[in-house]
Amino acid sequence: MTTPTRAAGLDALRAFVPHAGADYRRDRNHDTGPARTNVSGLSPYIRHRLVTEQEVVDAVLERHSLHTAEKFVQEVFWRTYWKGWLEQRPEVWRRYREEVRDLLAGDLPAHYEDVVAGRSGIEAMDAWVRELVETGYLHNHTRMWFASIWVFTLELPWQLGADFFYRHLLDGDAASNTLSWRWVAGLQTQGKTYLATTENIARYTDGRFAPTGLATEARALDEEPFPPAVPVPADDVDGRVGERVGLLLHEEDLEPESLLAEHPSLASSIRAVAVAADPGQRSPAEVPTAVTAFTAGAVADAASRTTDATVLDSVEPSAVLDWASAADLDTVVVPYAPVGPVRERLDPLRIRLGAEGVALVTVRRRWDGRAWPYASRGFFPFRERIPGLVRGR
Ligand SMILES: Cc1cc2nc3c(=O)[nH]c(=O)nc-3n(C[C@H](O)[C@H](O)[C@H](O)COP(=O)(O)OP(=O)(O)OC[C@H]3O[C@@H](n4cnc5c(N)ncnc54)[C@H](O)[C@@H]3O)c2cc1C
Repeated sequence: MTTPTRAAGLDALRAFVPHAGADYRRDRNHDTGPARTNVSGLSPYIRHRLVTEQEVVDAVLERHSLHTAEKFVQEVFWRTYWKGWLEQRPEVWRRYREEVRDLLAGDLPAHYEDVVAGRSGIEAMDAWVRELVETGYLHNHTRMWFASIWVFTLELPWQLGADFFYRHLLDGDAASNTLSWRWVAGLQTQGKTYLATTENIARYTDGRFAPTGLATEARALDEEPFPPAVPVPADDVDGRVGERVGLLLHEEDLEPESLLAEHPSLASSIRAVAVAADPGQRSPAEVPTAVTAFTAGAVADAASRTTDATVLDSVEPSAVLDWASAADLDTVVVPYAPVGPVRERLDPLRIRLGAEGVALVTVRRRWDGRAWPYASRGFFPFRERIPGLVRGR
């Protein structure tokens, strides 16, 4: 069971650091089953920033050289890359949300219910559905095989597969999930698809699975073009900070100490802290209790680490306004929410607070602010920047 606390995340990090070098480089692509130890299992913690990317990379580089731990560090930067890429193309997210809504409200493909109930008839897929539903996690290679079989063998809409993952993964993340599914389907790197094969699955599951009858070609899907990319905002503090400041935490960033350490003048003016308990809406379909409980646990953990934090049941403007007025605030500071469900809630909140004379100001980590602008093209040019990004703190 994954415990939704920063302490548990730091324990998991400490335990994995010795393996983040040569072991990880050699073994990371193997999925030996739920008891696996060759990958870190840190994603649910990093996704909510119970543990930050910076802390993970720092801990690994204290023990290994960048050369030895290059693969692991690059994987951590994939998360950063996907977030930065989506930040510059919010329309990709908006369209995905709309398509999921329309697909779920329409006539679902006849075999969809069987596949998501673990009755596809492909033994490996059915086992992976069970593992996902029971544990909230799948290995990265398995996520790739799963998505490929979903799109090219079962010929189901990629958006429904992304939605199924997003609802069930403890680490469910708007950017990493949506863009990885698009990558498999040939929409992300145009024309480049990912084809799962029997041999590759047998080899990397150490013979646990060898599904037959899989698609033998993966023709890229196509779609209407998107508008041009928008630049990443230049300033890490966006908005004018007043004198009576409150901090409102949310599920995208639950480690305020290091965030505020980057902005000392802001930190010293904070007089009240609240933590928003309601998660952004992942899907129009039901999100399993295990997933909502994990997020709620992560939020409660953040509240317990912050003196006198108020837990708000919702980020509905009225709830935030009640808190702001009780604490006599003129500014509500929030950690920057990347494109995704929390951001969808903050945009209307900003307008409502503004109408009542309370400014909503976002504060972004240097980690994101430095790296995101480089995520304008593919991962390979971005990857060249990693040594500089790691050094340039
Ligand atoms: C179709 C598909 C959907 C995915 N959906 C999500 C998702 O919703 N949320 C999510 O966090 N990751 C997602 N991933 C990425 C990746 O599979 C997981 O981050 C990884 O499996 C988490 O396991 P770990 O912590 O043991 O990873 P490790 O191998 O131990 O890697 C360390 C850390 O690096 C980051 N990382 C590793 N691989 C990737 C990657 N390919 N993309 C982005 N970050 C990565 C994670 O933060 C991870 O915790 C998806 C990948 C695919 C192919």
